[in-house]
Amino acid sequence: MFIDTHTHLYTEEFDNDRAEAVKRAVDAGAKALLLPNIDEASINPMLRMCKDYAGLCFPMIGLHPTELPEHYEDTLARMEAMLQSNHPFIAIGEVGIDLYWDDSRREDQIAAFRRQIVWSIEHELPLVIHSRKAQREIIDTLQPFRHDLQGGIFHCFGGTAEEARELLEFEGFYLGIGGVVTFKKSTLPEVLKQCVPLSRIVVETDSPYLAPTPYRGKRNESCYVPLIIDRLAEVYDMPKEQIERQTMANTKEIFKKLQNNLAD
Ligand SMILES: [Zn+2]
Repeated sequence: MFIDTHTHLYTEEFDNDRAEAVKRAVDAGAKALLLPNIDEASINPMLRMCKDYAGLCFPMIGLHPTELPEHYEDTLARMEAMLQSNHPFIAIGEVGIDLYWDDSRREDQIAAFRRQIVWSIEHELPLVIHSRKAQREIIDTLQPFRHDLQGGIFHCFGGTAEEARELLEFEGFYLGIGGVVTFKKSTLPEVLKQCVPLSRIVVETDSPYLAPTPYRGKRNESCYVPLIIDRLAEVYDMPKEQIERQTMANTKEIFKKLQNNLAD
């Protein structure tokens, strides 16, 4: 059994077979599918999905760093207004900084991230953080809030041992491990062995992206999470049941709102 802590199942890549993809995930052992938001336009399809699959799919809210509209402050204001009482969101995500494709809006990205960190503190929700070529900026932006942060995930971690250590200094934060750990030339297994205890990771797909071996390059989906768990069992040299149990416990620790809402 597992929880996919990061899947974009509501996107158009799944328009032709969303129900089948959900069924495959459940058949593979999915207890829950956590849906990170990307932008304003994706909120409704995401919420619809969470209604269709109540008790299985859970939404987050957040503006992705590569999706900042020109007037992103207005967008953020409208999104923040959705965080009223009884809102369904289990986390602020995915948010963060991405300087890989485009660093021309570095300052805007940092400002948007900072504002959404404040949401997470005010609404007592964990953060699901996207970081690409931005380790320094991510750390520096989080740092002033260190003592008020509500925990969360550094999603799709693929950095060095040094970077892992630095991120894990933030209490209540975990590394999201996905398909990359199965890639042949990945350095991630070594980094995990060296300095990341099993008590600080969760599993994720980031579907439709980053499918694990042997599906690399194809569309990713939540039913492939067991491949990630199998690889983690090798990396940590533990039975896969133990990987399942611990990553599940870690996930419930992060997403407090999930605990009372999981269907049994
Ligand atoms: Zn994502």
